[in-house]
Amino acid sequence: MSPIEPASEHPMRLHFAQRVVHQARDVLHLWQRSQYQLWTRQVQVQLDDAVLRWQRFAERYEHGPHLSLAIEARDALATVTLDGGRLDSPSLGRINEIMQRLATTGLRTLDDPAAMAELPPARHPVALMLKDAEASQRLARQLEFFGCTAQALDSIAALHSSLREYPPAAILLDVDFKGTGSGLELASMLQADAYPSIPLVFHSPLAADTRTRLAAVKAGGRAFISGPLEAWNVLETLEPLLNEGPWQPFRVLIIDDSRAQVMHTERMLKNVGMVTRCLTDPLDTMAALADFQPDLIILDMYMPGCTGTELAQAIRQNERYVSVPIIYLSAEGDTDKQLDAMSEAGDDFLTKPIRSRQLVTVVRNRAGRARSLRARMVRDSLTGLYNHTHILSELEDSCARAEREGQPLTFAMLDLDHFKRINDCYGHPMGDRVIKSLSLFLKQRLRASDLIGRYGGEEFAIVMPGTTGQAALGVLEDIRQRFAAIQYPAQPQDIRCTFSAGLATMQAGMRGHSLASRADAALYQAKQQGRNRVVADTASGIY
Ligand code: GH3
Ligand code: MG
Ligand code: MG
Repeated sequence: MSPIEPASEHPMRLHFAQRVVHQARDVLHLWQRSQYQLWTRQVQVQLDDAVLRWQRFAERYEHGPHLSLAIEARDALATVTLDGGRLDSPSLGRINEIMQRLATTGLRTLDDPAAMAELPPARHPVALMLKDAEASQRLARQLEFFGCTAQALDSIAALHSSLREYPPAAILLDVDFKGTGSGLELASMLQADAYPSIPLVFHSPLAADTRTRLAAVKAGGRAFISGPLEAWNVLETLEPLLNEGPWQPFRVLIIDDSRAQVMHTERMLKNVGMVTRCLTDPLDTMAALADFQPDLIILDMYMPGCTGTELAQAIRQNERYVSVPIIYLSAEGDTDKQLDAMSEAGDDFLTKPIRSRQLVTVVRNRAGRARSLRARMVRDSLTGLYNHTHILSELEDSCARAEREGQPLTFAMLDLDHFKRINDCYGHPMGDRVIKSLSLFLKQRLRASDLIGRYGGEEFAIVMPGTTGQAALGVLEDIRQRFAAIQYPAQPQDIRCTFSAGLATMQAGMRGHSLASRADAALYQAKQQGRNRVVADTASGIY
């Protein structure tokens, strides 16, 4: 059963073809996660199953490139050999090579802008298992409306068949699904059955006591909603769980004047699936940083032209890279010199020769922590969207990338209409709720590759890479209409709210700030023309 019922054959074909891509993403995700664990039977079975499903989808929807990759992946998985509980290097190397090909070529083939205008991003559905079957159905319809596909399941058998066919992205489960505590029992069973990776959210219509909440945590619950269920509070809970996204491999920039050393370090990191860029000339550093955007930098101490410490300081003096961890990797054994280097700039000092596991562990920990800190720094706390500064710097980067790759790029600005009235009549908290609801709406309806920011109080900005003005207009029009139809329960009457939007498409040689001011001017026109509409900048090739 398909969670969406497309109107014509073309979107239908695309919709199913997207399943191939989603399944491929699952495989990639599982593979990347497996690198943190010992290679247990459970890991092998999960990956085998996921790859098999991927192959079946690729066969069924006749997706040649994915089919041959899937077959290669199955062969590689069937012949792995272990070394100390982990895959040995030949096995790792072989599978990594397949996954890298998949990551670089296979996942965007269906992100066709023309198709996007017709089709919201297909996601695995959220399974709803509420005690009240009718409430389940109603909630599913509300969620669909927000662009979140959902499936009401009224029995455990229905869940099992969904797990086999097309596993849900998350499960919302009543604590008392079919009788007191039966939801908790079902969850424990799921955990035992190797489905712990599907996020599970518990619900209880009444305020739950500590015992119930603890039982929910023990049964694998990632969140708990008590009280009445509405689309917006369900989405708010699910959203961070659903958008953990396909895990991106760490990107490491290695700077060392010795080619042999660079290649050695690179091999150790690539073996665990990290992406690397190597520099033997430190003078290329700034260009490489801007282009590659590493999560972490590995620096040699002694190079011609500068020392590692000097280079580290130069990097740190650039505001954009203050939080990127820098690790020295050097044969320097004098601990005083090491400490001097670290007190100037730099986060860690590793001495050569180094064991691969030590290097990998340090890089992972540092890069992982830096990523999560950074994620918090660049986001707005009310909506979780990128903040003003960050969305603008993303816009700059995206413009440069689009120009280099000869791809289109569209930038849009949204502003809620007559928002002051909502605050004035219903209070600030209600205004906040509308802002959150639009941000959830945007996150659900736009593609994962689109970047969404809260530009100001009730203003939003969207960077849409690989998207023509025409396609963006289609998507935003659809979002505008759907958003305008939402009613927020309030007294003395329900609230509706609309937004106006302006969009501009990048032209040759255009930089981020000029694109932003064009979108802003188009937004101003939308307001002038009566609000609740999307206007494209005249140079965007639409009229
Ligand atoms: P227009 O259609 O011309 O955009 O009218 P408007 O009322 O939306 O525009 P205006 O810029 O005059 O007012 C924006 C209002 O948004 C003013 C401010 O109180 C409100 N606002 C800004 N940030 C927030 C916020 O974080 N929460 C709430 N509740 N309101 C906010
Ligand atoms: Mg405004
Ligand atoms: Mg406004």
